[in-house]
Formats: sequence, structure tokens, C-alpha cells
Amino acid sequence: MATDDRVAVACRSVVRVYGRATEETQALKGIDAEIHRGQLTVVTGPSGSGKSSLLSLVAARDEPSAGWVEVLGVDVGGASPRQLRSLRRTRVSWVPQRASAALFPHLTVLDHLSQAASWRSARVDPRELVARLGLTGCGDRRPAAHSGGEQQRVAVAMAAVGRPEVLVADEPTAELDAEHAEAVLMLLADVAARGGAVVVSSHDPRVVRHADRVLHLRHGVLAEERGSGGSVTFIDSSGRVQLPPEALEAFPDQRAVVRIDDDGVHLTRPDDPS
Ligand code: ADP
Ligand code: MG
Repeated sequence: MATDDRVAVACRSVVRVYGRATEETQALKGIDAEIHRGQLTVVTGPSGSGKSSLLSLVAARDEPSAGWVEVLGVDVGGASPRQLRSLRRTRVSWVPQRASAALFPHLTVLDHLSQAASWRSARVDPRELVARLGLTGCGDRRPAAHSGGEQQRVAVAMAAVGRPEVLVADEPTAELDAEHAEAVLMLLADVAARGGAVVVSSHDPRVVRHADRVLHLRHGVLAEERGSGGSVTFIDSSGRVQLPPEALEAFPDQRAVVRIDDDGVHLTRPDDPS
């Protein structure tokens, strides 16, 4: 599907629905997006806007209810369990919102990093990473002995070991103070600088400052994209545009007349004679 080799992950018309027919939640309502190698992409949006749902798909940890997600050339919805297992271990790393879910109760910090290195056939000195993330002195401890912030840093370190091609981290700085958040962001930016496609969700302005690209979600729809070329509003593959709230206020009946001329496409209220 993706022909551009900068594209590590491609999402086309992605819908994710949770629950049964009687009480279903449409968490993602037709997302079209591409995640590029060598970039730190930050997914922002209010709580409940679909960030975690989108990130689980990008990390090949979930399947879309409709549409396609292609991660490093693998169609996540159509892949065999074996293909997915191999993708997740060797090429795509994942830091869930609840970092403890990525950790093994019986392994120490150093064991976790050695394990991740062996999955990705990498030779690394785990002590260097431990020092970089301010975890020196925690190396021999198991997850239960760590604070939430320490667990978060261990999970990030584990995800960064051995240059994964795609690294996805769901709110990785949520429980960190400024200094530790900065160390985590520098590490993630390094993974991107070495060619990795890094995707992070966050509300945190400190994280957004490090972004090469920002994707903003609103109510399960990609509303806006900001990159080096400035800010643009998203039009999905069926032609839907999500207006920013201040523009939406101009259409209290949620109806618009569309007029196309040489200057562009204009939206006006049905009762507006201009
Ligand atoms: P965010 O990470 O931006 O807070 P989520 O992707 O977690 O958003 O959630 C988007 C919507 O989907 C919310 O309405 C949430 O309640 C719902 N949701 C998320 N996960 C589940 C689930 N496993 N079962 C049912 N609803 C879910
Ligand atoms: Mg979330």
C-alpha cells in the first residue's frame, strides 16, 4: 500500500469501534495518516479523543474494525499471529499508557534491557541507558519496587534499546518531572534522528516542542496536522473536514453551502446571501 519508503506506518480510513451493538464507542472514525521514518510525531488531543486507540494500532498491538493499518509493510488486520509476534519483538516497540503492563514482575531493570536487546539482536551496554534516564541505583530492582515514574522510564529504555524501526509511546512523560521528561524526550528524539519512526501521544507542551510533526485528534477524527510547513486542516479520504471549534460556531445548524471558485472552496451558512 505505502509506496513512499519514508513511510513507516500508513493508516487508511481507519475505524476502531469498542463494545457491542447496544453500547458501542466509535473511538476512531476514519483516520488517514502516515508516520514517517526519521521523525518524532506527536499525537495530541483531549482525553477520550482516540490517542491511545490510534497508538495501539500504529504499534501493531490492535487491529482496526474497518480500514487498513500497514506497519513496515505488514497489513496488521490481515497478518498471521506469527508475523505480528515477530514484528512486535524485533521491529516495533511499544510503551503502553500504563507502563507496568510492558514490564515483567520477575525481571530487574538490567534484565529488562538485556531482554529487549536480545529480541532486537542488539549489543548494548544497558548501564549507559540506565544512567542516561536517571535510573542508576535501580538496576537490580524489580518493577514492584519502582515508582510509576521509574516504571515509565524503564519501559521507555526497553523500547529504545537496539534501534527499533518504529517506537510508539503512549503519554511517556505523564508521570515524570521536568528533568526526567527531558531525558526521555532526548532519548526518543535520538531514536528518530537515527532513522526510527517515533510516535508519542501527549498533552504536554514540553513534548510538543520536540515534535517534527503534530497530529491533533478531536472526537476520533484527525483535525489538524502541523509540521515544518505550518498548520493544515485534515481532509479524509471521503472528503470530510473537521472544522476548528471557532469555525464550527459559525454554523449552528451544522449545515453549509459549498461554493467553489478560482479563489478556493468557500463554506457559508445556508441563510447567508453572500
Ligand atoms: P485517549 O487516549 O485520547 O484518551 P482513547 O483512545 O483511550 O482516547 O479512547 C477513545 C474512546 O474510546 C473513549 O471514549 C474511550 O472511553 C473509548 N475506549 C477506549 N478503549 C476502550 C475499550 N477497551 N473499551 C471500550 N471503550 C474504550
Ligand atoms: Mg490515552
